[in-house]
Amino acid sequence: MDIDHSVVDQRVATGTLPRANDVAQLVQDSYNHALPHREGEVASYIPELANANPESLAVVAAQVDGVVHAVGDAATEFSIQSISKAFVYALACHALGHGVVRDAVGVNNTGLPFNSVMAIELNDGHPMNSMVNAGAIATTAMIPGQTEAVRWDHIRSGLSDFAGRELHIDDEVYRSESATNQHNQALGRLLQSYGKLQRDPLESVDVYTRQCSLALTASDLAVMGSTLANGGVNPVTKDQVVSAEVCRDVLAIMATTGMYQRSGEWLFEIGLPAKSGVAGGIVAVAPGKGGIATFSPRLDHAGNSVRGIHATSYLSKALALNLFASQPYVD
Ligand code: GLN
Repeated sequence: MDIDHSVVDQRVATGTLPRANDVAQLVQDSYNHALPHREGEVASYIPELANANPESLAVVAAQVDGVVHAVGDAATEFSIQSISKAFVYALACHALGHGVVRDAVGVNNTGLPFNSVMAIELNDGHPMNSMVNAGAIATTAMIPGQTEAVRWDHIRSGLSDFAGRELHIDDEVYRSESATNQHNQALGRLLQSYGKLQRDPLESVDVYTRQCSLALTASDLAVMGSTLANGGVNPVTKDQVVSAEVCRDVLAIMATTGMYQRSGEWLFEIGLPAKSGVAGGIVAVAPGKGGIATFSPRLDHAGNSVRGIHATSYLSKALALNLFASQPYVD
């Protein structure tokens, strides 16, 4: 990640955010900092995603006290894509407990692209973690419910609770991905062949494709992240969506695997758990402080939004969010 560390000083985490006025100004500054970056490509392997406006940019910070700061195209809807993986993982942990999903899916990084077949083959058929496609399909297949419709409703309403409003599928994206997701179907079949999928592969991939097609805004996404930062309580609706323990588990997985094969670089440069999606969203979470969401469709080679990386990096430093930054104790 080519980040210019000279643009802002790293401040040391204090346990609380700066005053709301200062946060608002810094969100604006991060937007201004990210805007000139025009590198990267809009995803096109799902044909409908190629229609996104490459110039869109939104930066939103949602504090755990419910105050939300939004700059840019924060009301523009885009599909959640892989970011859904973190929240469906949360729903699976909530329903099944800490150990069940960990043992069935795993918590280690593959070091390989998000849709890798090799990662399954190199690991004796194990899906490895819930943030790559294989592990996400396996996690989605673990969501309880008698029928596909009930399981889908569990996921849609659960993600809506995280966002604090009803989320719906973007039909164009769903149709486009359903017509072109043979690779994910193959991942489902491969997991099935290794005995690692609890349900029918095509049905599991269909539910996974639906969850990826949910439309939301950067403001929704920031509130979802802030819920993970706030012990599972949505800071706007005050609903307890999942437990604090589930949030801790989800954030650990996001930190190690949320940015695909660049997760190590992201943690090294930015120091926050985060999850990205190929439509251009990124959510980063500062535990006890809030969620930061960015939306900009141009992606790096791993599938992470280029402007999103720059804006989040800026805010991590300026808002003193990096989990690893300290300074010597003074008597
Ligand atoms: N739905 C997309 C896929 O399965 C999600 C990928 C992503 O956002 N990285 O390919």
